[in-house]
Amino acid sequence: MGAYRIEQITLLDPIRRQRMQTDISMEDGRIRGLGAPPSAGEQVIDGRGLYATCGWIDAHVHTYPHPKTLGVDPMSMLKDGVTAVVDAGTAGPGNFQDFYQNWLQKSPLRQKAYLNLAYMGISEGTVELQDLSTVSLEACRETAAAYPEVILGFKLRIDPRVCHEPEKALALARKLGDETGKPFVVHASRSTLPIDTILSYMRTGDIYAHTFAQKTPGILDESGHLKPAVLEARARGVRFDLSHGNGNFSFSVAERALAQGFLPDAISSDIHVRSKERVGSLALVMSKLMACGADLWTVLELVTGKAAAMLNLPEDCTVGVGHEANLTLFELHEGAYSFTDSDGMPKMGACLIAPKGAVLGEQVYL
Ligand SMILES: [Zn+2]
Repeated sequence: MGAYRIEQITLLDPIRRQRMQTDISMEDGRIRGLGAPPSAGEQVIDGRGLYATCGWIDAHVHTYPHPKTLGVDPMSMLKDGVTAVVDAGTAGPGNFQDFYQNWLQKSPLRQKAYLNLAYMGISEGTVELQDLSTVSLEACRETAAAYPEVILGFKLRIDPRVCHEPEKALALARKLGDETGKPFVVHASRSTLPIDTILSYMRTGDIYAHTFAQKTPGILDESGHLKPAVLEARARGVRFDLSHGNGNFSFSVAERALAQGFLPDAISSDIHVRSKERVGSLALVMSKLMACGADLWTVLELVTGKAAAMLNLPEDCTVGVGHEANLTLFELHEGAYSFTDSDGMPKMGACLIAPKGAVLGEQVYL
């Protein structure tokens, strides 16, 4: 049973947009006090120069390390300040039990998942929905019902390399969504279907991933304006997730969208084995969105309260006495920083968010 005290840290509440300089005391995995007197035997951490918020949520990652899949070690994410992640459909009904028993249950951080419509998820490379006759909606429904605390919804990729009949796949996802009441996430990058068609299958709570990708189908028209179908979809509650990944974040798309008042519903990294080097960390993606015009409060909200809302999680995302200890620790650096988007384009930014670790329950990850 550990007792910790982080002294003289700047605690930010992105939802109320409040900041306070305080000492955070934690005992037995809970917040004992903010600015409370020290207690005997607690381990003191010097928080000068550090910032804290409630723990960051990365709404799109891959953590299932099946030999052929892409999962990264979640421990590295804790050190990068992320305390909750959502695996975006790495496993399907045929291997979800393995993912759950051998990985999710043993995870050091909070994990949820989307279940891939494809029976074995993305464990076979980029082919999972080429033969739609192998998709079993019954198996998807049964698996989702067996893990109601973990499976938030469903995932499908309609990239032409992955799926040859994208509309048929979307119709299956729609049917599954209607039958279960759970949302689905669409990876549409490289799809040749118009975005209007893709979004027409999506309802409130469904998530359009890789929002700022330069690739087709794209959220912007040829003159750089948001397509009407995108605005209509947002108005009816379809969510738009950043999910950076290897090739799905363009500065020019993000900057134009932000200038038109179109923020994503969450910032997520889409970190997996093959994208880790390019993406770096969730904090780096946040810094890049700041370079495109978002302010600090906004990016912090997009990885806390807004991400929880997009995912329909019951988190209140505040640091309060009696709450479970769930903190992200980071530094803020001001200067001139050169960032690169996933198309290799450079951009200068004035703020770098540098993660320094996390506290989750009784563990401190520095
Ligand atoms: Zn992904």
